[in-house]
Amino acid sequence: MLTRIQQKLLADHRLQEIHAKVESESRLTEEDAMRLYEVRDLNALAFLASIPRERKNGNKAYYILNRHINYSNLCILSCQFCSFAKKKRDAEAYEFTIEEMVGKATSALGMGITEIHMVGGLHPSWKFDHYEALLRALKKIDPRLHLKTFTAIEILHLAWMGKLNVAETLEQLHAAGLDSLTGGGAEIFSQRVRDQICRGKETAEEWLDVHRTWHRMGGRSTCTMLYGHVETIAERVDHLKRLRALQDETRGFTAFIPLPFHAENNKLSHIPEPTGFENLRNLAIARLYLDNFDHIKCYWINHSLKLAQISLSHGVDDLDGTVLEEKIYHMAGAKTPQEQTASELVKAIREAGRIPVQRDSLYNEIARPKDEKPAAAPDETTLSPGHNPATESNLATA
Ligand code: SF4
Repeated sequence: MLTRIQQKLLADHRLQEIHAKVESESRLTEEDAMRLYEVRDLNALAFLASIPRERKNGNKAYYILNRHINYSNLCILSCQFCSFAKKKRDAEAYEFTIEEMVGKATSALGMGITEIHMVGGLHPSWKFDHYEALLRALKKIDPRLHLKTFTAIEILHLAWMGKLNVAETLEQLHAAGLDSLTGGGAEIFSQRVRDQICRGKETAEEWLDVHRTWHRMGGRSTCTMLYGHVETIAERVDHLKRLRALQDETRGFTAFIPLPFHAENNKLSHIPEPTGFENLRNLAIARLYLDNFDHIKCYWINHSLKLAQISLSHGVDDLDGTVLEEKIYHMAGAKTPQEQTASELVKAIREAGRIPVQRDSLYNEIARPKDEKPAAAPDETTLSPGHNPATESNLATA
């Protein structure tokens, strides 16, 4: 039974039809998604998106203790939207040695991280065995450390460098320590858009095929959509449709992560960045349309923690993590900090009325407060049995 306020939110006949589908867990069509993109009332979208969000995840909101490492920004491509990639001659070009990366991971391990998230440019000269050695060195620090590394585009580059097919590449990297794939490089699947924003990059089919191959091997990955540049709404919906179709086939995606375009220091700087309204609308529609995804993540680095906090009422159930060091979005003008403490994430989640849950890379719960009252102050956080001491000390600073 809808309240009077909810009835008002759904005054539009088409929204009532969509609401009935959402309540009965019927799949939304592409026409439904297009209709949702016409909605100007964020409260209506928030109300609708909260239905599957709470059906799937209750009142929980997830975060992870992780460390990002962008191993090098040297890249053989020059995607028009990218502010990160450099050539050897550029002053901002860099590459970390394996020893430097081991040092970064080791110091973060002392802060209780459970995951290394590692991506970089398509390096012009590193050989395949360099990446294997890197994975082995990181795994040697602590075999329990989950290595979430490489986009599908990097996998295709490594396959080319190693003269291997995709399956062989993934098998060898997995043997060296790769645990799951990151979701970057998808951009927008439409070839019309790819020709304008990332000419020369692999096609949608090649991106999807890397994830399909990995999922068939039993691997898990995330997926993304870079939006808010030259794409049409129909092309966004087409992108979501292709992700939903692959998820139907493999069930290998853990989460969907929309990435808003950032405009500084790249060849598309004349395009205005998506607004807060656009970002929240996009997250809510993703939650409604991607009915076979368990998790929708609002990556606070590119949305800001303030907007990520609000997104917890717009279909989102995950804020990502501590991150510690990020270069890709910061070279594109991101004003967010480089890291968040666990206590800041917990505080943001609790203020939004959700229950903070520390997760691992596959969304298994590592720790959560016993006291589920959302208004409890972060420094009252107590952990359930089975937590790891590093996490406890991290949360205890909240
Ligand atoms: S988006 Fe990736 S592949 Fe494209 S230029 Fe930047 S680093 Fe290279």
